[in-house]
Amino acid sequence: MTATRVLVLNSGSSSVKYQLLDMRDASRLAVGLVERIGEQTSRLKHTCVTSGDTHERSGPIADHDAALKAVSEELAKDGLGLDSPELAAIGHRVVHGGMFFTEPTVIDEEVLTEIERLIPVAPLHNPANLTGIRTAMALRPDLPQVAVFDTAFHTTMPESAARYAIDTKIADRYRVRRYGFHGTSHAYVSRATAKLLGKAPEDVNVIVLHLGNGASASAVRGGVCVDTSMGLTPLEGLVMGTRSGDLDPAVIFHLQRVGGMSMDEIDTLLNKSSGLFGLCGDNDMREIRRRMDEGDEQARLAFEIYIHRLKKYIGAYYAVLGTVDAVAFTAGVGENADFVRAAAVAGLEGLGLAVDEDRNARRGDEARLISPEGARVAVAVVPTDEEMEIATQTYALVGKAA
Ligand code: ADP
Repeated sequence: MTATRVLVLNSGSSSVKYQLLDMRDASRLAVGLVERIGEQTSRLKHTCVTSGDTHERSGPIADHDAALKAVSEELAKDGLGLDSPELAAIGHRVVHGGMFFTEPTVIDEEVLTEIERLIPVAPLHNPANLTGIRTAMALRPDLPQVAVFDTAFHTTMPESAARYAIDTKIADRYRVRRYGFHGTSHAYVSRATAKLLGKAPEDVNVIVLHLGNGASASAVRGGVCVDTSMGLTPLEGLVMGTRSGDLDPAVIFHLQRVGGMSMDEIDTLLNKSSGLFGLCGDNDMREIRRRMDEGDEQARLAFEIYIHRLKKYIGAYYAVLGTVDAVAFTAGVGENADFVRAAAVAGLEGLGLAVDEDRNARRGDEARLISPEGARVAVAVVPTDEEMEIATQTYALVGKAA
């Protein structure tokens, strides 16, 4: 029997998201989520896509090991257990691959050590990713396990975009440079946009706007990333749900010296209670829209700051690319919030950018054009699918050998 299934694991500090895919026809067999691992109120939600059945369990799940065992039990009920000979590999999302990992990589001890060495630049994410990998390796030591890095797509950035203008010796010593994140999504969406235009990825220049709770923009020239808005960490760039994005680094000195705040307090401020949430107390774009409709000025200002930053990045990446074939909106906000898309390109007719009101208002799960007929630059909504991309990359690496 040929092994054609790939289990995709996205392990966070207290959660594991998973999908089981069959790469023969790129179909989803099961999807699920374990939340609040380590608490009394852990919860597992599992859906078997083929039957449409959903099972939920609640009650304590002590750690990632217990979580993966519970996932395996749920999969086994549908005849899709982790011990199945049809499972070809497990693909793991790893947030930070530094400069070392430019491609998906089969995990061995050396790879684990390198991911561990990157913990100082990804203190929240890489430890959780490592725990998930180690647990999965212990469960199926015989199975290829592949790491797919959020940073990998951006390793093609030229030094002019990847370096900060600080002392090179210090930057090199502490690996301070712009790595970028959401790379799996930017890779998938830029390719899917080319497909939507009926062209090869090599033949198009795309600005990808991944607008979720975390948000980032990228400039992709002929399928190759040449710039992206996140940097050493996912804090740089666009205004996000709770992260500030760009700011004068001196704000940090000021808050420490004048405000008496500790570095940890400032870190928490900028990552957890800034962005839309810091500006107006809400980070969900639906809620912000509702408040704006009621005439709430604070929500309106938060929205305007969000859009202003987004426009600046569209303009910047237009200049970086020189010619642009498409601007693609993706992720929770990008795929659903027509008012964000309309506001982001409003007034950019001079750059050939506009949305058609009816097309923009139409909803759907498919990639679609929202620019007017015959527009110089296509504006598109392109739903992202990071799990499919991780599975595709994982299977491409190990599928042939399986
Ligand atoms: P992440 O993966 O970064 O957590 P998502 O890509 O799932 O985020 O996006 C989540 C965000 O998408 C929500 O916080 C919300 O602001 C936005 N969102 C989801 N659905 C809608 C909608 N129908 N209209 C407007 N915004 C939406």
